[in-house]
Amino acid sequence: MSCRMCAIRDRHVEHRERSEETMTDGQIEKWADPAMWLAEAQEERHPTVTLLGMTDQPLRVLAAAAELYQGRVVRDVGDVSQETAKRWFADMTRTKLAAPLEFIDLHFLLEGVTRAFTHQLVRQRTAVYVQESLRFAVVEDMPVGEPPSVAGLKDDDPLKVVWTDTAETIRVAYNQLIASGMPAEDARGLLPTNTLTRVHYKTNLRNLADHAGNRLCTQAQYEWRQVWARMIQAIRDRPREQEWWSDAWQYDAIAELFKPACYQIGRCAFKGTADRYCSIRSRVDEHEAHGTPSSQWEDIQAWEWLADPTAARPKNGPDQSSQSAPTTQPGRHNDS
Ligand SMILES: Cc1cc2nc3c(=O)[nH]c(=O)nc-3n(C[C@H](O)[C@H](O)[C@H](O)COP(=O)(O)OP(=O)(O)OC[C@H]3O[C@@H](n4cnc5c(N)ncnc54)[C@H](O)[C@@H]3O)c2cc1C
Repeated sequence: MSCRMCAIRDRHVEHRERSEETMTDGQIEKWADPAMWLAEAQEERHPTVTLLGMTDQPLRVLAAAAELYQGRVVRDVGDVSQETAKRWFADMTRTKLAAPLEFIDLHFLLEGVTRAFTHQLVRQRTAVYVQESLRFAVVEDMPVGEPPSVAGLKDDDPLKVVWTDTAETIRVAYNQLIASGMPAEDARGLLPTNTLTRVHYKTNLRNLADHAGNRLCTQAQYEWRQVWARMIQAIRDRPREQEWWSDAWQYDAIAELFKPACYQIGRCAFKGTADRYCSIRSRVDEHEAHGTPSSQWEDIQAWEWLADPTAARPKNGPDQSSQSAPTTQPGRHNDS
């Protein structure tokens, strides 16, 4: 068992003991609803990702299915060569017949993500989710995630002070309401949108890649890109954590699949009247005009779309937004 797994297990044991203590010392009686449980505390104040499950030998499984297109029957995925697996995987980006990607399942546990994020996440209908309930689970140390415009500030910056003090006032009020016998499902109404939560997210590779196209894009809120970077890393880490050294090529190849939509289709997919500015759009447009495939977009750096929280805001203020956005902006998508 890796040290990381040991730490997770120890946290679980500690949490269970703490819950049992709470149950036996009578504190539970102060809760209004017997269907209320103490949620495991969240130590991290930023997104963390655990890849709980993924189809083993993913590219060989994909190729085993794809081989049947050409009449070849695979009855043992171990019979698929590395070359065949790589060839079929590369093919998936060239054809609309990408069903073999659906033979690879992935199950992530996302923690330390905001309720704003999970509200957007569950709009995607191509996955199944289970989220930590705020009706039944009482989170004593109600954690609130800081957005990029607060996270980088000094502790005594007035904006940060307002943010932190307000979050603390709400946390104290929530605990007081619960302690006074209010059901959690009522008390949660006070909580901020950035209350941190946990969610299981299970989907398949075809849908995950499609989802990445939308949410690795500068149009999506920055938290998405923080989560995606960790999901991609979790996929890369899987063979290393399991000590499947000779399989690492499969996971590294899959990790390369996740790019913004423009990389996937060779043009910007967000040019509607409600779409926002994008710091790389004008260069994508030029590449589209010249027919340059995204594998050759050397003037666009990954950090520009992945690591810049301001990439969907014009650098010179709102007047510049028409440079890259297609029209004036009657209603810009902000996600809900
Ligand atoms: C940058 C960004 C900004 C956004 N802003 C907003 C916003 O301001 N307000 C808001 O409400 N939402 C917003 N959304 C959410 C968005 O409108 C979609 O609901 C969400 O992204 C799911 O996308 P989807 O339709 O591609 O996927 P899904 O709904 O998961 O569907 C996946 C695919 O399955 C097919 N499909 C699924 N169900 C059906 C069906 N019933 N009929 C036909 N085809 C179906 C479609 O081909 C679709 O492409 C935003 C999303 C993004 C990425």
